[in-house]
Amino acid sequence: MKNREVAGLLYEMAELLELHAENRFKIIAFSKAARAIESLPEDISLVCREKRLQSISGVGKAIAQKVEEYLKTGRIEAHQELLAKTPPGLVKLLQISGLGPKTVFMLHEKLNITNLEELETAAREHRIRRLPRMGPTRETNILKSIERYKKRSTRILYSTAEPIVNDILAYLRGMGGLEHITAAGSFRRARETVGDIDILATAIRPEEIVAAFVRMPLVEEVLAQGPTKASVIVQETIQVDLRIVEHQSFGTVLQYFTGSKEHNVRLRQLALNRGYSLSEYSLTRLTDSQDLFYDREEDVYAAIGLPYIAPEMREDRGEIEAALRGTLPRLLEPKDMRGDLHVHSDWSDGRASILEMAHAAQALGYEYIALCDHSPSIGIAGGLDPEKLEKKIEAIAAVNKELELEGANFTVLAGTEVDIKADGRLDYVDDLLARCDVVVASVHMGLQQTERAITGRLISAIENENVDIIAHPTGRIIDQREPYEVDMQAVLRAAARTKTVMEINSHPSRLDLNDVNAKAAKEMGVMLCINSDAHDAKQLLNMKYGVNVARRGWLEKKDVLNASSLKDLLSVLRR
Ligand SMILES: [Zn+2]
Ligand SMILES: [Zn+2]
Repeated sequence: MKNREVAGLLYEMAELLELHAENRFKIIAFSKAARAIESLPEDISLVCREKRLQSISGVGKAIAQKVEEYLKTGRIEAHQELLAKTPPGLVKLLQISGLGPKTVFMLHEKLNITNLEELETAAREHRIRRLPRMGPTRETNILKSIERYKKRSTRILYSTAEPIVNDILAYLRGMGGLEHITAAGSFRRARETVGDIDILATAIRPEEIVAAFVRMPLVEEVLAQGPTKASVIVQETIQVDLRIVEHQSFGTVLQYFTGSKEHNVRLRQLALNRGYSLSEYSLTRLTDSQDLFYDREEDVYAAIGLPYIAPEMREDRGEIEAALRGTLPRLLEPKDMRGDLHVHSDWSDGRASILEMAHAAQALGYEYIALCDHSPSIGIAGGLDPEKLEKKIEAIAAVNKELELEGANFTVLAGTEVDIKADGRLDYVDDLLARCDVVVASVHMGLQQTERAITGRLISAIENENVDIIAHPTGRIIDQREPYEVDMQAVLRAAARTKTVMEINSHPSRLDLNDVNAKAAKEMGVMLCINSDAHDAKQLLNMKYGVNVARRGWLEKKDVLNASSLKDLLSVLRR
């Protein structure tokens, strides 16, 4: 589907128009259309072929024409014209907070600034404060914003890296002559964000694979190329490094490049204690300087006297000690998941019906799904008033009858995502909550409150006997919104005491509880669940990102509520 591509282009048009101080309504129209196309559940090419573009809300005639032009010719003339009159680095400057289009344009006109580096230099040399309406404070603020921006843009979401990695691996596998190929680094450890993407391979003729790699269609720039390695840029800022290594040392190299640095430092110490020196390419026996090569990573660990340690655990958070004691957990796997306990439908802000969500979940091999739409306080997300929730509970009963008639061994649970209001009260009365099979409670507003206030809100929700699950327990949005101030230890203690389940939200920008908190929760005896928070059928697939976090948090099948059968789930929920 080209939806994301088209949306990206429209977003860029909006930015370019903004930079050239075009009509505000026109700018808003482009970004609105981009948002609509981005979340469109069907293929934009199909919608275009069937001449239905203008039926998408926010897409008018002019934009429909541009989308059609792009889908037919691969470009939009108006976009090209805008690009031609804009220095390429200038658009990026709009992402520096505090810099509006007018200011960016003035900086360009007066100081000939065309990119981030030039902006930073100008600020350091105090050339910006002398401009009209600027002054020393704004200059300092610009420098601060640049720092923040750099920190933000050096890492990408795991979910952004994933399709790139998959594309590259599939492409190179298609070349033939490859033996091993895999991604290493923080991607292999499934961190929530990823720096550079590292790919390791062994090949019969390395130079052919390197040549194919730099010629891949998604490559935008080649930074370096040698006989066995190359570095390229994709999607404007993402660096991908490919290394072709000797077959005999693949295991050692993979271990080294998977990291983390902290884990590897500990491993090298341990190797030294046992009379070996561990390097990037081999294990060297110190007594006779004999080099030992391993093409399998398992054998590297075995040679040092350790069982295999899953990449997700390699952070020096106790995994080496556990390996030495023989107490490594048997990590949860994606196939262990039996259902999803927090999804939305078109009863609130979801985009699919209850039955559609049920069918999609069933197709994933699940046994159950809990439909948890929003409560009235979340008016913007179509929260249900009490009567509507009662109607929804009836509608779910009807859907279950229908599924039974279809012979499906599948159950839809009636749930709610009830808002924990700013004063700590829940958004429905207890009697109504008691009628739901699953009550997920979460904080959406009053995120700026003090730690004491927010912790108190969460604990009072946890202490409500109708509440089963606390969703996205820290409220953070990776790179966009810091977690709210909360005493997580106190929250987890309350959850352990009341047997309330804490969620790992699988939305790729949320992923909270994070790995560290999930591990702490488990150690405190708190049960966890992993939910997609899907707003359409496709987003059910986000579950895998939550499973990554669970694995990084050392969770096993028994620690995760929705890795249990419906029968076991119901016995926990009714307790
Ligand atoms: Zn929510
Ligand atoms: Zn939700």
